[in-house]
Amino acid sequence: MDSDWMSQGKCKEMDPALFFPSDGVGVQVAQRICAECPVITMCLEYALSNRIDHGVWGGASERERRRLLSHRRLAKKKRTEFSFYEPAQGH
Ligand code: SF4
Repeated sequence: MDSDWMSQGKCKEMDPALFFPSDGVGVQVAQRICAECPVITMCLEYALSNRIDHGVWGGASERERRRLLSHRRLAKKKRTEFSFYEPAQGH
């Protein structure tokens, strides 16, 4: 996945430790920075695609990203199950 967007991140000249907080208050501080970042969507997608477990990425905490991945897996599973019932093309 392309990572050119990283050079546009609002965090690029900040202390990286800000984005690896140890408590909920720290998570909120990082999320407020991310909320104003022009590449928030790409950052989140990068973290999800690469299964990055630690830190705040794309405005999402570790727990929020786990939940997003779980929802995506569930949605994919449902699509696969339902496609079994779709009529074949041309019939
Ligand atoms: S969304 Fe947050 S972690 Fe990602 S590049 Fe922007 S400021 Fe940095």
